[in-house]
Amino acid sequence: MIHAPQKILVFGKNGQVGYELFCLFHDNYNGLTPEDAVFLGRDGVDLSDTDALLKALEDHAPTAIINAAAYTAVDKAESEEALCMAVNAMAPEVMAEYAQDHKIPFIHISTDYVFDGTKTAPYTESDAPCPVNIYGKSKYEGEQAILKTTAPAVILRTSWVYAAKGQNFVHTMLRLGQERDTMGIVNDQIGAPTNAKDIARGILDILPQIKPDSGPELYHMCAQGAGSWYDFAQLIFEEAKERGLTTPSSVTPIASSAYPTPAQRPLNSRMDCSALTKFYGVTLPDWQDSARACLAEILNNTDSKKAIAS
Ligand code: NDP
Repeated sequence: MIHAPQKILVFGKNGQVGYELFCLFHDNYNGLTPEDAVFLGRDGVDLSDTDALLKALEDHAPTAIINAAAYTAVDKAESEEALCMAVNAMAPEVMAEYAQDHKIPFIHISTDYVFDGTKTAPYTESDAPCPVNIYGKSKYEGEQAILKTTAPAVILRTSWVYAAKGQNFVHTMLRLGQERDTMGIVNDQIGAPTNAKDIARGILDILPQIKPDSGPELYHMCAQGAGSWYDFAQLIFEEAKERGLTTPSSVTPIASSAYPTPAQRPLNSRMDCSALTKFYGVTLPDWQDSARACLAEILNNTDSKKAIAS
């Protein structure tokens, strides 16, 4: 049978999720091939430039859109609100309007930071957002802009993203573990560290299920289970130590108040993902299993292990 190529336009080529999507197309995940996708990074289109984004959409004439790009510098966003809003709220609106006009599926990623974290149970999709920082506010506005269209769009809220490649908590801990003998790690923010690879798989499992005549939908999609940043750091150091890397002799749990940052973070980031399982049959793996798999990928690679230890 001849494979009719699709033209799935993916924004965020060099980001954590964008890169994992790129790898999945190259690994023929779900029968997809590299010819089915066009990946654009910042060099391909600056998402803060609406005209450039519209031109990119018209030039590529995609059959589907995946937006894995975002302004993700949570602390810096406090002093760059206009840029953050342009990338996280205005660009998704333009994408959604294009998807609406052309009746093509659109998948967009959002965040647990739309919530204020005061709920004591996991957040569901029907809980009211109340962001406590500019990044969260910009992502919430992006969601709202998409939801007001009639595009066949799926918004996926995820949390605490890390990957084998990229700048993230895993790599920061592995580096600091070499440099410091004692560390204090925040223990009162609870969430689900989520592997970008699992998010990318989830996206490609959902995409073919989106019906062209459906309206916009919103789901939570993060790893199962939850822990604190301290728990996550402990797991990282356990895996590093097992493979002979230096780790701190003392890791202490601390409160968020002892680690002030420009942007406030929600204390409870837990999200209930049962709706996604029910409607799309997609459930991401347990956070600890996936984190261990990511650490094995990083640390079983002799070159990357050497780079960390050097
Ligand atoms: P990354 O920060 O790894 O990647 C984001 C990408 O967006 C980068 O490649 C960046 O380009 C690109 N980008 C930023 N600004 C622009 C711009 N003006 N024009 C074009 N491209 C731009 O993000 P993740 O993969 O971690 O996140 C994927 C999604 O998940 C995002 O929607 C994010 O909001 C969401 N999310 C992320 C979480 C996290 O912990 N990281 C938590 C919860 C949700 P460049 O490489 O050139 O900088």
